[in-house]
Amino acid sequence: MGKTLQFQNIGDRGNWVDDEWVPAQEGKTISIVSPYFDKEIATVPDSSKADLDAVVNRAKEAFPGWASTNIQDRSKVMVRFKTIMENDMDNLAELIALDNGKTVADAQSSIQRGIDVIEYATSLPKVLKEESSEVSPGIICTMTHAPLGVVAGITPFNFPVMVPLWMIPLAITTGNCFIFKPSEQTPLAGLKIAEYLKEAGLPTGVFSVVNGSREAVEGICDHSHISAVAFVGSSQVAKIVYTRSTAAGKRALCLGGAKNHIIVVPDADENSTTKGLLASSMGSAGQRCMAASVAIGVADIDPIIDQLIAETESFQLGEDMGTIVSKQALDRITNYINEAVAMGAELLVDGRNITPPAEYRDGYWLGPTILDGVDPDWPCAKEEIFGPVLSIIRADTIETALEIENNNQYGNAAAVFTTSGQVAQTIAENASAGMVGINIGVPVPREPYSFGGWNQSKYGHGDITGRSGVEFWTNLKKVTARWPESTETWKRYF
Ligand code: NAD
Repeated sequence: MGKTLQFQNIGDRGNWVDDEWVPAQEGKTISIVSPYFDKEIATVPDSSKADLDAVVNRAKEAFPGWASTNIQDRSKVMVRFKTIMENDMDNLAELIALDNGKTVADAQSSIQRGIDVIEYATSLPKVLKEESSEVSPGIICTMTHAPLGVVAGITPFNFPVMVPLWMIPLAITTGNCFIFKPSEQTPLAGLKIAEYLKEAGLPTGVFSVVNGSREAVEGICDHSHISAVAFVGSSQVAKIVYTRSTAAGKRALCLGGAKNHIIVVPDADENSTTKGLLASSMGSAGQRCMAASVAIGVADIDPIIDQLIAETESFQLGEDMGTIVSKQALDRITNYINEAVAMGAELLVDGRNITPPAEYRDGYWLGPTILDGVDPDWPCAKEEIFGPVLSIIRADTIETALEIENNNQYGNAAAVFTTSGQVAQTIAENASAGMVGINIGVPVPREPYSFGGWNQSKYGHGDITGRSGVEFWTNLKKVTARWPESTETWKRYF
């Protein structure tokens, strides 16, 4: 039995400026509502350009000191940050759940994935040791990674701590000053990062938070003193942020939405395939960019589908799956289901009109939903639904299955369930996606391998974590040196 969340009102939170919480200069706020209770739990500032200027100015002042702090000392802040987070894991997970609608257990594992990146950041003094060699007689070339300056990160609602941690530890440990713009839907847990970093001894101004929505994001894209922007969110906004930031001369890496397919062939192991499909499509209530949204059954996979239906029947809301993030998102997802049914899909499992858990009866609930006989051209098969809805498409051959997968506009993840090495290899080699799973439904690479998709799941070059993330937040400096012969004076001492 999972932990029961208590309703609490956290009050008015602020922007993090000079190691303190301050309100927006114009006093505008955004109401934060818990999806478990349909009630306001806090407000955060709706920041303007003036609020952004305030944090950028402080970050600019802090940059020379932080950039010249050696990387060993910078990484020691990350060592302390990691311990502080681990010690506060339970509180943080409850805050994520209250704000975002995840289960506490799901929130905990997402924090752990974020901590993996902090751990990688602690290894950067070793990873980034200078590369140096004699390139011609007497000439030494040395390459180092230099920080960019003031940089920013803009994040989505679905992983309020993990996604910010894809950016913050790497950007800060490489010597940058970081401005964080959390999702205005679920900002509360991400704000704790500011307090943890202060406790870990990070100098004032190296990390700041500017809350807000569109105005704050546009201000970041346009700001002449911000050198780089990382963004994670929908493809529509990723494209806007990428275009606007690069037009303003910034480096930008913008991760977008997804429509992930799992190809299932009849030789797949029934138990692990069912579990893989269920966890991938319904875990986090389908609100993750690595969720399987489409299962493509090659030939007859009915025994697996039957087992899948049976397993969803024992699924407990609030236990195995949390809520949808907002009333608006719930309506949008329900519309996709209604539309698919109207178009002729067979509703194998219906998550609409389920009975919510008694203690959260006002929450935004949708149960697992499975649609069969879906046509690859229907909206539920092509568009990102971002909810606990699995569409099943039937295909005669592996070639057709791959064609359906590769025709989708996104390219975050693709997976195959099979016991055949040859099938697995064919899918791994030919799927047009940045992250491929073989008998794994959520193929998130773990550090030091980097996270990032292809096609319209990403705008910009490189990935966001691992070595690729480090490259994003740094410039390479190459020093080529030749020293003259020793002077007559010094030759005496040899
Ligand atoms: P979103 O695009 O609505 O919001 C993301 C950020 O953009 C927020 O901080 C928000 O304030 C800002 N924003 C929203 N509209 C804006 C606008 N018009 N102009 C400027 N800024 C704007 O995304 P979301 O709903 O918070 O998150 C869900 C999306 O994120 C899904 O599409 C999901 O696939 C994607 N996502 C992708 C990854 C990945 O790694 N590719 C990871 C997590 C989530």
